Amino acid sequence: MKAFAMLGIGKAGWIEKDRPVCGPMDAIVRPLAVAPCTSDVHTVWEGAIGERKDMILGHEATGEIVEVGSMVKDFKPGDRVLVPAITPDWNSLEAQAGYSMHSNGMLAGWKFSNFKDGVFAEYFHVNDADGNLALIPEGLDPVDAVMLSDMVPTGFHGVELADVKFGDEVLVIGIGPVGLMAVAGAALAGASYVYAVGSRKVCADAARKYGANEIIDYHNGPIAEQVMKLTKGRGVNRIVIAGGTVDTFAEAVTVLKPGGTIGNVNYLGSGETINIPRVEWGVGMGHKTIRGGLMPGGRLRMEKLAKLVTSGRLNLSHLVTHRFNGFDHMEESLTLMKDKPRDLIKPVVVI
Ligand code: NDP
Ligand code: ZN
Repeated sequence: MKAFAMLGIGKAGWIEKDRPVCGPMDAIVRPLAVAPCTSDVHTVWEGAIGERKDMILGHEATGEIVEVGSMVKDFKPGDRVLVPAITPDWNSLEAQAGYSMHSNGMLAGWKFSNFKDGVFAEYFHVNDADGNLALIPEGLDPVDAVMLSDMVPTGFHGVELADVKFGDEVLVIGIGPVGLMAVAGAALAGASYVYAVGSRKVCADAARKYGANEIIDYHNGPIAEQVMKLTKGRGVNRIVIAGGTVDTFAEAVTVLKPGGTIGNVNYLGSGETINIPRVEWGVGMGHKTIRGGLMPGGRLRMEKLAKLVTSGRLNLSHLVTHRFNGFDHMEESLTLMKDKPRDLIKPVVVI
């Protein structure tokens, strides 16, 4: 079958590969629509997960099932499904302990385009189909549905990690598609005021639609200074980090109130250490919590988040700025994600 793959660090291209084999609990899926992710860019061009040769890229897709294993109970060929980017082994001890995303090893719930071939292929393999797939609900646009693979669950997980509560003032650093979903999630979770950091106008406009009250451009000076000025020196209760670098933590810790929480979902692709400023962290005693996580994945989360969309509480139409028709546009869409033109939020390729 034809597939678009990482050929090595800094190189991506088309390859031919055997169609994946279906195990007893698995499904083989034909993609209906796929999206490239900033993580694919980190993987190929920054070598963030190390060397990979001829590994099929992509972890965001909706699809149609073409084959299921003998033990799969709830899905059959022909079903149209949402596919989470994170597909844990649900019977692992880590999943039983509540950390499905780390099933069988740290970050090992993230299998597509990490430990195994991804979804940018004529067919892809889904482990634990009953635990990981969800039917595309009626009325959900298949292009919007691709945003449920990773952008919605990751942005919302940032909100969970930051522990946003009613009335909290929230700072979201980064308003690409992940940060935008953190803005939307924070608003749904009851934030009283949302500051959002980004510079592209298309993202700032979308952030306002999703509930941001104030946009901060990080080119206009240090984020911490700008937030402190806007909050009259008070800082904020909760911070979701969905952009920036290892140095962004210093800014976040500085503007976090004692008792506050940082939830990081940003992929830190470079730098050996993360910077936590000693004094601003209360010389180690400030009750400023820093959490970072990969989204949990799985079917229940897909079904619940899809319901937010079909009930009208979450509008995904502001996220997809570029639509392509046909598999041949895979490379073009990934290049867009790499170059991040100013009118881009997220591209989708309809197969
Ligand atoms: P984008 O690149 O589209 O967005 C990044 C955002 O961060 C933009 O708003 C950008 O601003 C802003 N930004 C860039 N540099 C800085 C800086 N120095 N300080 C503050 N803000 C900055 O990324 P995505 O939304 O697609 O993804 C966000 C991150 O989440 C990525 O690292 C991605 O790999 C990661 N990720 C993590 C997952 C998880 O499960 N934990 C899953 C999926 C993605 P501007 O407007 O100027 O572009
Ligand atoms: Zn992704």
